[in-house]
Amino acid sequence: MLNFERVKIQSELPEKRVGSFEVEPLKEYTQQEAYAEAGRCIGCNICTQSCPASLDIGGYIRSTALGDPAETVRIVFENLPFPAIIGRVCTHMCEDICVLYDTGGPIAIRHLKRYAADQFDDYSKILDTPRRSFINKKVAVVGGGPAGLTAAYYLAIQGVKVTLFESLPVLGGFMRVGIPRYRLPDSVIDKEINFILSLGVEVRLNTRIGDDIKFANIMNEYDAVFIGVGNHKPRMTGTPGSEAKGIYHATEFLRRANLGEKIQVGKNVVVIGGGFTANDASRVSIRLGAKNVCIMYRRREIDRPGYPSLNAEEELEESVEENVKYIWEVTPFEYVSENGKVTGVKYWENEMVSDGHGRAKPVPQKDKVKFIEADTVIEATGQETDFSFMEDEYLKKLRLTPAGHIITNPQGMTSIPGLFSGGDSTNTARDLISAVRDADTAVIGILEYLNVMDQIADDRWLPYLDRWKKYSPNIIQR
Ligand SMILES: Cc1cc2nc3c(=O)[nH]c(=O)nc-3n(C[C@H](O)[C@H](O)[C@H](O)COP(=O)(O)OP(=O)(O)OC[C@H]3O[C@@H](n4cnc5c(N)ncnc54)[C@H](O)[C@@H]3O)c2cc1C
Ligand code: SF4
Repeated sequence: MLNFERVKIQSELPEKRVGSFEVEPLKEYTQQEAYAEAGRCIGCNICTQSCPASLDIGGYIRSTALGDPAETVRIVFENLPFPAIIGRVCTHMCEDICVLYDTGGPIAIRHLKRYAADQFDDYSKILDTPRRSFINKKVAVVGGGPAGLTAAYYLAIQGVKVTLFESLPVLGGFMRVGIPRYRLPDSVIDKEINFILSLGVEVRLNTRIGDDIKFANIMNEYDAVFIGVGNHKPRMTGTPGSEAKGIYHATEFLRRANLGEKIQVGKNVVVIGGGFTANDASRVSIRLGAKNVCIMYRRREIDRPGYPSLNAEEELEESVEENVKYIWEVTPFEYVSENGKVTGVKYWENEMVSDGHGRAKPVPQKDKVKFIEADTVIEATGQETDFSFMEDEYLKKLRLTPAGHIITNPQGMTSIPGLFSGGDSTNTARDLISAVRDADTAVIGILEYLNVMDQIADDRWLPYLDRWKKYSPNIIQR
């Protein structure tokens, strides 16, 4: 009999996973499970239309179903050099539109990618990546997150001499210092970054452009520059009492925890914010020993960032299993402290009021003050790009959206000739796969700008942009 049900991925027991940063909440498909799950796919490739990086999803699900994970990895690498990372943490919007969503559940595209990538410790054994000789062009990449690393990978393959500058002592950006280790182990990040570096990318760690080297210098020294500097400037709420000890911004908190610091969070932790970063900060707090962890968000559950999506549902489910509590529709308005150390949060409950235009707005009901104890408060209230690395002469020329994102043309070039950009500083999606997509676009843009497209040995090794158009009947191919 035909079985339409999605093959359930096994998970670790919550009590086992909260005791360690080493335990991944989700286990991996076995070979048999992977074949069975991949075998459900009907190959329509509609999912490719919602993949920001235009991966050939139907193609690699097929190779997995046929028992050829090496081919799966090869197909993914056409546009993305992080199959094991993305196979764990992608926002997997592709699954939200899978035609089988209501017929047993969407194909587990993300888990299948992880399964295939995890079969190989060393990708050089299955990818015949060409060793090009240097084509006498050099490009600087600023920022060693997914955007910068992707750009470095595809440019290096084409013989461009790439130097990557990273201000931190580690590579990976938010993959390394944002996403917690239980969701994304260091060994997985190391495997994929080391493969990229094996192509001959020169890396300068602990080098902040703007401090250690002037931005103007790299603009003058290199034939083109790609910036993937992300969003690392915390947006704090400025709530009265914020100067007390024990109050952090989530990105600082997660960076320190990810780099191995045993932060003393105490018994009660309050996380302010409703997005994915709030979930990560709360689950890290539990692993650091907190007993009562609660997330406070000013809107309703259905208004939280990223919802509705399978990803948002899964994240909430895993957090609840680990005993994270949520207080929806509240406005924290004061941090209370004793002897300079935070002890609690005063807050009002909100009423959601709709004026008929856009989203309902949270209106605090100030007649009743509520209080919750807290030894640690973590603000997961967003972050923005720090442009202080650029001299004024460049900043004046760099066009930004009103929200502060860098504007690029369809080739990924900013308003400054020769300066390309991508990732969180540039797109509004602010996820890994969109950072990769931006870098893919910029790689072609940079090669065209450098006028070296005629030196491309094999266009199999160029990112395949906009593959989704192949599967969209409404697009007229030219
Ligand atoms: C807590 C958290 C959890 C997340 N979880 C997910 C998830 O599950 N799935 C998902 O898809 N996305 C997730 N994201 C988002 C994702 O990590 C980002 O969208 C992605 O990392 C952006 O890539 P990027 O290369 O643009 O920037 P980043 O990853 O931020 O990398 C930018 C790098 O540039 C460096 N840099 C900045 N300025 C300079 C300078 N002047 N000189 C030298 N180096 C510089 C920084 O140190 C950093 O290493 C998460 C983000 C956070 C914060
Ligand atoms: S939408 Fe679903 S069924 Fe169609 S190709 Fe993608 S994974 Fe397979």
